[in-house]
Parts: sequence; C-alpha cells; structure tokens
Amino acid sequence: MMEDLRCACDARGCGRTLGEDDLMLRMTTDAGERRAYECPCGAVTVTVVR
Ligand SMILES: [Zn+2]
Repeated sequence: MMEDLRCACDARGCGRTLGEDDLMLRMTTDAGERRAYECPCGAVTVTVVR
C-alpha cells in the first residue's frame, strides 16, 4: 500500500501541493496521525490521517 503524503495548501489563492519536503511536524494521537505542512507562502496546513 502506498502512503499518500500530499495535500493542498489551505491559504486562499495559494493551493500549492504540499509534499514530504514541506512536512514540518508529525504527531500521533488517538484520533490518528496529524501532519503539519509549512508552505513557502507562510501558511501552515494540518491534516489528520487515520
Ligand atoms: Zn501556500
């Protein structure tokens, strides 16, 4: 199974695809794994992977 690390930047008007290079933080919680991506535009996008 392939793990998809990509997501899109949340910032309005950006929409850049964020990949492993932008990954800033990984945190495992009871709800799943949280990943924080820092986009070059300065926005931080957090996703939860179950
Ligand atoms: Zn961005």
